[in-house]
Amino acid sequence: MTKICIDCKKRKPLEEGFYFNAKGRPGSYCKRCASNRSLRWQKENPEKYAAARKKWEENNPNYWKVTGL
Ligand SMILES: [Zn+2]
Repeated sequence: MTKICIDCKKRKPLEEGFYFNAKGRPGSYCKRCASNRSLRWQKENPEKYAAARKKWEENNPNYWKVTGL
């Protein structure tokens, strides 16, 4: 199975090239584009990113302890 990324328009194998959401559906963007987009978004929206990260940490207070990072 392959899928075309809507950003870079490249056809990539589903399992290697795409992230899957909680419902098991592949994303519209390939892994490379998804990470580029999120990095760009973080740079363009530092306040939103900080707020989203803070909220996530509040919802996942044990995450860092569990992973040991
Ligand atoms: Zn792509």
